[in-house]
Amino acid sequence: MELPRSFVARVLRDLGEAEGGALCAALDTVPPVSVRLNPAKCTPAVAGMASDNLSAGFPHLAFARRVPWCDAGWYLAERPSFTFDSDFHAGAYYVQEASSQFVGYLLRDAGVAGARILDLCAAPGGKTTLYASLVGESGLVVANEIDRRRAAVLADNVRKWGLGNMAVTACDPQAVCDFEAWFDVVAVDAPCSGEGMFRKDPEARAAWSEANVRMCAARQDTILREAWRALKPGGVLLYSTCTFNREEDEGTLERFAAFAGGELVAAEVPPVPVEWGILCGKAGAFHTFRFYPHRTLGEGFFAAVARKAPDASGRPRTPKARRSLFAAVDRAAREELMRWTLAPERMCYARVADTCYGWFEAQADAVRQLSEALPVICSGVAFGQLFKGRLKPDPALAFHPGLNRDAVPTADLDEETALRYLRRQDIAADALCEGLNLIACRNRALGFAKRIGARVNNMYPNSLRIIKQE
Ligand code: SAM
Repeated sequence: MELPRSFVARVLRDLGEAEGGALCAALDTVPPVSVRLNPAKCTPAVAGMASDNLSAGFPHLAFARRVPWCDAGWYLAERPSFTFDSDFHAGAYYVQEASSQFVGYLLRDAGVAGARILDLCAAPGGKTTLYASLVGESGLVVANEIDRRRAAVLADNVRKWGLGNMAVTACDPQAVCDFEAWFDVVAVDAPCSGEGMFRKDPEARAAWSEANVRMCAARQDTILREAWRALKPGGVLLYSTCTFNREEDEGTLERFAAFAGGELVAAEVPPVPVEWGILCGKAGAFHTFRFYPHRTLGEGFFAAVARKAPDASGRPRTPKARRSLFAAVDRAAREELMRWTLAPERMCYARVADTCYGWFEAQADAVRQLSEALPVICSGVAFGQLFKGRLKPDPALAFHPGLNRDAVPTADLDEETALRYLRRQDIAADALCEGLNLIACRNRALGFAKRIGARVNNMYPNSLRIIKQE
């Protein structure tokens, strides 16, 4: 499908014949493929690794070169079939377009370790998982998605990333932002007209119209105003879209600046070397960053950052608790749960319905407050259910890098058998110990299975199973 005519006319008018023509031509080329590794599931530490060392750990990925603005980001020389790579299912990497990884770079000097981040438009979770790797165990990422079906996919990706420092809500932004002045960072990766996706996704071309641009811009205005309430004084506001449209980029920021007034101030940003090809600018207090595919190795993207003034009005306010979900666990249960984690003393434990959960202590109270007021569809680490004092582990526990591997024997399968496991097909019992086993491939955990004599009970969730045929 051709590029929309009025899009082409606008680009040629705004950027000039040469630059606009180069952009349109780039939108008809093959997009680069990139991934972001999960540092918690790569040893040794990802930073500083050379591509040949990495290839040994990720045999399906042909690493070409690093994404310059993201330590864990890599361009691949070719697109593999991610579905048939067990590391993909283990949450050892996320397939994420390179330009999008820049939001992490913008937070580089903001001191976000231990921060509370709200990712307001979060599905499928590319940026959520990036923020989770940045805030660490003492931080919290609240990932919200308004669309329930997309929120379920987000929750799957959050569980797979496994860090246990995320909570997923499925609300209108207004409901989450009733947690006023509560977050150190609020990120709005806004729904937009998607012009930056014209190369990757032919449907984006078909869905584009002037009317849709106007509708998106109005929706962005509403979302940003909500986001502002949730941000603490002194906190960082990150805005991004995957469109080139000024109306939804600088235009939205200008309308927002008029609303926020003097409480919106500039944020400090790390230097952006010219050779990255990113166009840096300003829109009022916002530092802005434009990614054009004819200049940068990545898709079309727009990002902006500013701060709320430290002396801005607003005190933290949480909505009224509507229910009490968390039931205390007794001493014996707590001891059983502690056996399964490498951070027994740094976690708090509670039961929600039949399932026992663990949350890192630093944010456990915050998660409880959220869960009492909003529909939280997943948070912390789901440990599982207790039967006669023994844990029947939840599939999510396998993905948690803090799982104590001494709690259960590991069956480290070859790739072919691991794929059989991921399809929920039968696997031979001889690779497993009698009873419960952690199933892994290349030592990266995928789930659990139970051997009973010559039979193996495959405990991989049906909802995650590979259906696609090779
Ligand atoms: N941040 C995500 C990532 O990196 O994987 C991508 C987010 S996508 C660009 C924008 C999201 O906003 C979509 O998942 C969409 O469902 C959601 N959305 C749509 N309408 C919305 C609204 N009115 N308020 C908040 N979010 C909305």
